[in-house]
Amino acid sequence: MERFTVVTREDELSLSLGKKIVDRLTLQNKIFDDQNPQIVISVGGDGTMLHALHQRMHQIESVHFVGIHTGTLGFFTDYEEGEVDILLEDVIHRQPITEEVQLLEVKRYNGDKFETLYAINEARVENIIKTMRIEVLIGDEYLETFRGNGLCVSTQIGSTAYNRSLRGAVLLPSIRAMQLTEVAGIHHKLSRSLSTSLVIPENNIIRFESKSYNDSILCYDHLHVRLDGVDAVEFQLCKKAARFARYRPTSFIKRLNNLY
Ligand code: NAP
Repeated sequence: MERFTVVTREDELSLSLGKKIVDRLTLQNKIFDDQNPQIVISVGGDGTMLHALHQRMHQIESVHFVGIHTGTLGFFTDYEEGEVDILLEDVIHRQPITEEVQLLEVKRYNGDKFETLYAINEARVENIIKTMRIEVLIGDEYLETFRGNGLCVSTQIGSTAYNRSLRGAVLLPSIRAMQLTEVAGIHHKLSRSLSTSLVIPENNIIRFESKSYNDSILCYDHLHVRLDGVDAVEFQLCKKAARFARYRPTSFIKRLNNLY
């Protein structure tokens, strides 16, 4: 891959590694191209990679991503901070295997009109001011009426992120599914919902309907939009995928082990 760009977290170490990567790749006649790169190198954490992925959403299917972590190992990143020379050798001399990561498609409905957004980790509706009341449908089937702060729909790769803090299960990489988890659900005699997380295979649509989404927010990865005036939100794993350049296999169990 000849054309590259670099996205760095704004700390001293990440910035200096980012500069080293640009200098070394340019010396090797690789072309720094921020408009139309073939590979995006993220330097920072999983959060930095999320920023890089969203910055390139318009060209997500023609770009590869690789990351170096300046903290621990991470889930989106394959190299640790002391491994910048290995990363450079790999990018200069080796052909990677492409790993595709399915994106979560989220539709905000206002009547028949909708707006589509994409998430890598998760999308969630939340209201910290007022209790939400949400009718949850899986396909055309009614599941439950949820009351509480909100609901989160996570992808497999996002299962170790916000979903894990909500006590959702961690899903291993070959599992193609969404996971629905509650955010502070209310459970008593008059209000009941599943309370555990629910793993839903791909090809299903999850639909949240509410009489009032006022003051609610739809968070998707590090981004958010307001839901005032919206009457339903739908979630589905889609064909669109992000492409990670894997130059060396990194065990998911090792990544998980590094997390806690
Ligand atoms: P952020 O500061 O960029 O990230 C918050 C933390 O989540 C960081 O420690 C980040 O790791 C980690 N993270 C991100 N994606 C991950 C993944 N797939 N698996 C494991 N850890 C992951 O926060 P932000 O900008 O608000 O939101 C970005 C993402 O952070 C969201 O998609 C959400 O999943 C996650 N988040 C989690 C919580 C929580 O667990 N309570 C709260 C807010 C946000 P690095 O340090 O490597 O960047």
